[in-house]
Formats: sequence, structure tokens, C-alpha cells
Amino acid sequence: MKVKKQMLSLKAYEPGKSIDNVKKELGLTKIVNLASNENPFGCSKKIQEALQAISNYARYPDSRAEDLREKVANHLGVNENQLLFSSGLDEMIQMISRSLLFPETNVVMASLTFPQFRHHAVIEDAEIRDVPLKEGRHDLEGMQIAVDEQTSLVWICNPNNPTGTYVNETELRSFLEKIPNDTIVVLDEAYYEYVTAEDYPDTMKLISEYDNLLVLRTFSKGYGLAAFRIGYAIGHEELMRKLDIGRLPFNTSRFAQIAAQAALTDKEFVKESSERNFEGLQQFYAFCKEYKVPFYPSQGNFIYIEPDKKPEELFQYLIQRGYIVRPIKDGIRITVGTKEDNEGLIKLLKEFLVNGTSNIKLTS
Ligand SMILES: *Cc1c(COP(=O)(O)O)cnc(C)c1O
Repeated sequence: MKVKKQMLSLKAYEPGKSIDNVKKELGLTKIVNLASNENPFGCSKKIQEALQAISNYARYPDSRAEDLREKVANHLGVNENQLLFSSGLDEMIQMISRSLLFPETNVVMASLTFPQFRHHAVIEDAEIRDVPLKEGRHDLEGMQIAVDEQTSLVWICNPNNPTGTYVNETELRSFLEKIPNDTIVVLDEAYYEYVTAEDYPDTMKLISEYDNLLVLRTFSKGYGLAAFRIGYAIGHEELMRKLDIGRLPFNTSRFAQIAAQAALTDKEFVKESSERNFEGLQQFYAFCKEYKVPFYPSQGNFIYIEPDKKPEELFQYLIQRGYIVRPIKDGIRITVGTKEDNEGLIKLLKEFLVNGTSNIKLTS
């Protein structure tokens, strides 16, 4: 078999444990999945209604997603030609990497950030310049120093997955001022709908000032449409035309396009999700402060905590009791759930921190 050699160093994506598997294996009746930053409140009721009108299954979807494009353009106050749609941001990250990265180029990103940035950079055989987070936050000064003439792309995950920290408008502007025009700076705003910080950057304004700025948003998180796989990028028309060349002809389904349009009409759902998320975060902050567990204040629908115990042991303890979280490096990332789910998890976290560990291991 003749495979790109750089792919041999990578592993295929490992999904979090499926609820059904964990139930079966552990004989549990209820599982709370707080591992994938999905919306715990589901999605707008308008989605199901809108989908019922779809019948022409034998026809391909609209390649350019014209109806959705018009609505998103209005929603954001941008030109329709400034948009590019994808099968979730996962595909967008692949599309951007495929077009902009090749062996003579390098890409600058934080280390500890969304893993797909690195994954696709490896496949394209570009040089990866990792800049460690500083106290859980992007080190923009370090990243700027890492940029040179060969830098094609800079990834800024804002807020950052998994730490939940953010880059503010002043920091971002001063960074953009120092970056060459032909280096594309991508801001992954997957959690935009959850952000409450007042000094969070107004990137729709910034893209009219910086032609090399690309902003990513998704319907998977705040809108609760992860199953449909739809997200989009906003940037300068010229850049969007280039990226569009690498897009698969029918990369977003009719179902996804219709669902996304319906989601945009229900602002109340998104607002409520975000408000309940904010309250959920307060539950976790209170616990962390009381038990002196290090954490980062989060602008997303998740919180990263670094308890003084092995993350893998904590993961095992929680999963055996029906709660799935995500161990990442020295900590665990917990998706903020419903009030009740958060209470249940916090109760177990307290138990674990007081009583120590459990030795039973899952077999798979
Ligand atoms: C969840 C997530 C994505 C991928 O979202 P999809 O639109 O569902 O593919 C991209 N970036 C970050 C930072 C995420 O957390």
C-alpha cells in the first residue's frame, strides 16, 4: 500500500464512549454524557417542523446553500460572497488546511487547543509551530514571534477548547497589526453563542478591516444541531473564492440547510441555552473554589479543571457511576449540562476528591 508517510504517525478519530456501550458494560440504566460539548437542552422545536416539509430525496441539495446563505448574510450583516458552508467546522478545518498548507509552509497554533488543527497540518506535511498556552490562554506574543514569511496559517481557538479561555479585542487587534497580509489568521468561534465577556472581539467588524482574517462558526454547539453537520466561515470574498475551489460539490445536505435556517429563526432558544449555561458554569466555579480545584473561567459550554488526582482515575470513577467526561492532558474537560446533571456530577467529584480512587477498569 502506498500511503502518505505522514499519515502513519496519526490515529483515526476516537469518539467518546457511546452511551449504549457504557450502559451495557456497566449495567447502568442512566448515563449522562458530558464529554462532547453538545447542547444539553437539545435544539429549537422549529427544527422538526421545518424538516417535515422536505420530500424530494432523489434530488441533490443546493450546492451553494443559497437560501441559508441569504439568511446567514442578513443575520451577520455581511455580503453573501463572504460566506462558505461546510459539513461542520471539522470539514472546514480540513478544507482550509488542504488549500493553504503544503510542505514549504508552516502553521502556528497553541498547544493545548482543538486537535483537528494539528491533525490536518500533519496530513498536508506542513511544519507545525506549537506555542504553549500561558496560564491556559493563547500566548499571542509567542505566536507572533513564531510567524515568519513561510507561515500560511495561524489558528486561534476563541474561546479555546479545552480551556475555555478567550482572546479579547485589544489583544487580537494588536496581534493582527503585526501579522503579514498573506498569512491567514483563523478564529475558530465554535462557542460564539455562549460568550458573555464584554471585551470579546467583534470579528464581523474586524473582517472588514483585515483581509487575512477568517472567522468560523457552527450550528453544532449553541444551536444544538451537531447531528446535521453544518458550519460556516466568514472572510474576504477573494479568500472565500479560493477556499471554495476545494469544497466538495454537495458538502452540506438539504436537511442541514433547512435545519440551520429554522434554527436562525429561534433566537430565544439560543439565548436560553446560553443563559442556562452561564448558570451551570457558576455551579462548577462554586465547587472548584470550595474544594480548591484549579480551573479556568470559561466562555464556552464546558469547563477544564485540573484536580490533584490522575485524570484517568477520575474519568474511571465517574464513568462507573454513569457520568462521561473527557480527560485531556493534566485535567478533565466537563461539558456544562442541565442544572440537575451538574449537581449529580459535582456530588461525585466531591466524593472522589475526599475518598480517593477506584480500581475497577473498563475493558474497552
Ligand atoms: C466542536 C468544535 C468544532 C467542530 O464543530 P462541528 O461544527 O460540529 O464540526 C470545531 N472547533 C472547535 C473548537 C470545537 O470545539
